[in-house]
Amino acid sequence: MEGDSSNRIIPSHSKGLLQTPELYQYVLDTTVFPREPQPLKELRDLTANHPRAMMATAPDAGQFVALLLKLTGAKKTIELGVFTGYSLLLTALTIPQDGKITAIDTNREFYEIGLPVIQKAGIGHKIEFIESEALPVLDELLKKEANEGSYDFAYVDADKLNYWNYHERLMKLVKVGGIIVYDNTLWGGSVAADPATVGHRGGAVTQSTIQFNKSIAADPRVDISLAPLGDGITVCRRIY
Ligand code: SAH
Ligand code: CA
Repeated sequence: MEGDSSNRIIPSHSKGLLQTPELYQYVLDTTVFPREPQPLKELRDLTANHPRAMMATAPDAGQFVALLLKLTGAKKTIELGVFTGYSLLLTALTIPQDGKITAIDTNREFYEIGLPVIQKAGIGHKIEFIESEALPVLDELLKKEANEGSYDFAYVDADKLNYWNYHERLMKLVKVGGIIVYDNTLWGGSVAADPATVGHRGGAVTQSTIQFNKSIAADPRVDISLAPLGDGITVCRRIY
């Protein structure tokens, strides 16, 4: 891996949650990159120079999501916030051949950046991409009773201010025993930072994430764990 500059992803992906950037790089180099499927690496490289590359799911968080998908045997999933498709491709590579992903993003152009890699990987048939705001799509899905409790897994990575609105709807769409993963729930550590020093991360998203984390911790309908991978991912399991 030495000399492979594409795997030197500090500082673009490191959210500074671990003690040092070197420790984060260590985790990636020892455990994540050697096991990262080739199409995912290709998509990550393709996205690396995008001005908004930092939005992509962190590879360490992605690896954990793939493990959750396998542990739960998820087949039917929904993803809010696709960008160039790192988490989408990861999901598509992990679920079975007859699995289905409903993927929603307001920006099709982002999705089209990664689409050639997705198609080349031979898993495009598992994906239905919907160009839209996520909330109206969830409301539309909920109009059909058959959709209730029909999803095994949901990955939420769209606009952070709507996370609680997504949660209320996903609690109906995801089955009892199903999993919902929320990305960026530590928001660069700003949720616990001194408001005087958080800078550009001290704004509305920080406040909304703090409120989301409180609300989810008080929600008796889910088992939860906030894993400090990537930018923080909250894993929920629907209990009832
Ligand atoms: N999961 C992606 C990263 C998503 S970044 C990955 O692994 O790379 C957040 C995405 O949410 C952006 O692509 C943005 O276009 C999309 N987005 C923002 N607001 C949205 C909304 N209201 N509904 C759906 N998508 C939205
Ligand atoms: Ca994210």
